[in-house]
Amino acid sequence: MQPLLSPEEIATQAPGDVSPNRLPAGRVFSQRAERLRALAGGHAMGDFLLFCARIADAQQQELERLIPLAPRPDADTLKRCRQHGMPPLDAQGAELPEAWFDAFTQLVARLEPWSPPVLQSALMSVPGLGRSALDDLARGILRCDENPDTVIELALAPLVGAALQVTWTARALALAEHDIPAGFEDSLCPACGSHPVASIVRIGEAGHGVRYATCSLCACEWHVTRIKCVLCHNTKGIAYQALEGEEGALNPGVKAETCPECHASLKIVSMEKDPFVDAFADDLATLTLDMLVDEAGFHRAGRNLFLFTP
Ligand SMILES: [Zn+2]
Ligand SMILES: [Zn+2]
Repeated sequence: MQPLLSPEEIATQAPGDVSPNRLPAGRVFSQRAERLRALAGGHAMGDFLLFCARIADAQQQELERLIPLAPRPDADTLKRCRQHGMPPLDAQGAELPEAWFDAFTQLVARLEPWSPPVLQSALMSVPGLGRSALDDLARGILRCDENPDTVIELALAPLVGAALQVTWTARALALAEHDIPAGFEDSLCPACGSHPVASIVRIGEAGHGVRYATCSLCACEWHVTRIKCVLCHNTKGIAYQALEGEEGALNPGVKAETCPECHASLKIVSMEKDPFVDAFADDLATLTLDMLVDEAGFHRAGRNLFLFTP
């Protein structure tokens, strides 16, 4: 008879035959839009979530245009990246791909009629801002290293982030899973080097109960062991908080995983509890959980490009 595993053993278990990295689904943005619409019903931030769903729909259309155009890194680059654990679609140091700006222009054209007033007036300023200011804003978002210079830039940041997401997701879909470095279980995406938005416990063909961190930029996922801090790899004293309503858990599929070592909190969404969770969408719908863990002394480690909080 197999002895039961202790939490410590589960935390350090090797992934076995589950894949170390997962590419985004080809319909990632339309699935996200659907989830956002489902979460918006009766939600205090329903209008915001519905606008985010419109952005995700526009992202899906743009993704389909970009997929056939996305370049694949050459074989030497991919080999070098695999050997040294470097992200082949480096979002931090490499040059900004030209495609991002076309994606931004397309998203603006599709979303302008539906935009809330603050975004509408920011969009009117886009022609006057100039390309270099927008490129700077995009680089700042990718590197998480600067605050927007103006109120206009702050209002535009989620749309710039949305354009960057589509660009990198199309590039990720030009890769094969084995192109992405594996075995370096890290706190950053092995495909592009960006921060996770949250982590997801998957079911089905991905392996039952296997956890992945979801990239905030390219939507790739990388395996991370359970009951272990994604940021600092600590396995001691990991705890979970959830939003409780009068009739039990408000979002049964979402918890905040807190680490007493680095005081970080990263959300974990579970398909075991709710098969329709989406790390990005469910993160947006549970911002009150961030406030709760913040009050308990843990800082939000997940990055969501629709919330401009560098
Ligand atoms: Zn990534
Ligand atoms: Zn930690």
